[in-house]
Amino acid sequence: MENCIFCKIIKGDIPSKKVYEDEEMMIIHDVAPKAKLHYLCLPKTHFALLKEMDDTKAAIVARCLQKVSKLEKDLGLEDGYRVIINQGENGGQTVHHLHIHLLGGEPLGDF
Ligand code: AMP
Repeated sequence: MENCIFCKIIKGDIPSKKVYEDEEMMIIHDVAPKAKLHYLCLPKTHFALLKEMDDTKAAIVARCLQKVSKLEKDLGLEDGYRVIINQGENGGQTVHHLHIHLLGGEPLGDF
């Protein structure tokens, strides 16, 4: 997607602080962290919303979550973290490429 900032990051056209990459996902530091540690897990396949998932995309998102769980210690999230996927306008989604926020590194308290 030519105007998608996360597609540009995935292609390497925009720099990012990458902490993990494989053939179907990338994990980067969020440029404007909302917690001591704030990562974004980006599926490389472009789609915006959970409701756009077919079985293939759903499997990618599942593998993203599985990979995050395996990387908890490497990411400094072993004491717990918050997983957020903002959806649409009311959800506060500003980048229309599905991404998984990972927040941690400190007690986050209640919502
Ligand atoms: P959302 O509001 O759920 O769409 O989240 C988008 C997130 O992308 C925000 O937390 C932004 O800080 C983050 N963001 C935007 N541009 C970049 C970038 N170039 N590199 C890293 N994170 C970014």
